[in-house]
Amino acid sequence: MVYEKIICPYCKSDNVVKNGRNSTGRQRMMCRNSECKHKTFQLEYSNNASKPGVKEKNY
Ligand SMILES: [Zn+2]
Repeated sequence: MVYEKIICPYCKSDNVVKNGRNSTGRQRMMCRNSECKHKTFQLEYSNNASKPGVKEKNY
């Protein structure tokens, strides 16, 4: 079972829902964080190799 956690690239919130697709077929997402200035963003598919260090968070 694969569960991909989608995080808003602007506010790093995981309170994100799908928001349809754009004209190029990319998945659009909508951030539901009320403090986020970017409400929508697109999923990047070619971003796996260039993550600037993923840290584990303690909630
Ligand atoms: Zn956000």
